[in-house]
Amino acid sequence: MGAPCPSSDPGGVPLWAYDRKMGYREERVAKNEATSRVINEGVEAAYESDPEDAFLFFICECGLEQCDRTVRITKAVYERVRSDPRQFVIFRDHLIPDVEQVVSDGDTFLIVAKREGTPAEVAIQEDPRT
Ligand SMILES: [Zn+2]
Repeated sequence: MGAPCPSSDPGGVPLWAYDRKMGYREERVAKNEATSRVINEGVEAAYESDPEDAFLFFICECGLEQCDRTVRITKAVYERVRSDPRQFVIFRDHLIPDVEQVVSDGDTFLIVAKREGTPAEVAIQEDPRT
């Protein structure tokens, strides 16, 4: 008895994994994340006068289409994320390992960076600060 083929069992596979059209899916993920980033820039701007160690709720910058999570991080952490256009902050369960790699592991959030290739390129192109 060999191990069952993992692709024959859809149990537990997140929705995004069903679309295996390479390039397209990764680009869509990157676009979703870029949109979240624009919204979060607005969040930070709205609390501009708050101290660096103030906690704010930012929306999760993952690539999942149905995501409605927020992450609670300080402005200082958010600034660290934004210091590199390839970096995003996400709710910790929303990592897409073949598109993102973990840079920093918080309690409830992860700071991730786009892997080289399409995701990183789209992330840099869509950076609201460039
Ligand atoms: Zn998310």
